[in-house]
Amino acid sequence: MTERLKTAWRNEFAPLVGDRRGLRPVLFFLPDWWPGRHAAFAYFNVIAIGPGLVGAPEPVRRYILGHELGHIDRHHTNGQVLYWLGVLAAVLLGRMLPPAFHLAPICLVLIVAVLWITRGEAKREFEADDEAAARYGDHTVITGLTWMQSRRATPVPKLNALRLERRRDHARV
Ligand SMILES: [Zn+2]
Repeated sequence: MTERLKTAWRNEFAPLVGDRRGLRPVLFFLPDWWPGRHAAFAYFNVIAIGPGLVGAPEPVRRYILGHELGHIDRHHTNGQVLYWLGVLAAVLLGRMLPPAFHLAPICLVLIVAVLWITRGEAKREFEADDEAAARYGDHTVITGLTWMQSRRATPVPKLNALRLERRRDHARV
């Protein structure tokens, strides 16, 4: 059963990566014990799908793939590369400083990372939704967002509500 569902995901995903150059996105199914059952995210070139999403209906599957691929296409995952380069640089730099300052560079990297994540989050989520809508249409995105919300903790996070509202406005015009 699960294998058949995963094949449906792979079949949907294959044409999306077919004609790409450079680093090709990879689809990865998170293990059953993964705590965020309905998590989906793009990490470097990997699109990770939570165990609770494997059985999602077709429009939801499309929305998730379109959205996560949107993050990759809009270069949002470059921030992750910079983060790890920053961590590496901070560790090397810290070792050259007096002992009392060993952790200072890594603290700086963490502060910058938190600021990057929180300040740009809405913009990045909107852009990824735009990419999904360009590929599959507004209604697929609306269906996907609504389904995802119904599976997640209540109350609905403000950003998710905004994304849905924005998509509905776009579908009306
Ligand atoms: Zn996203």
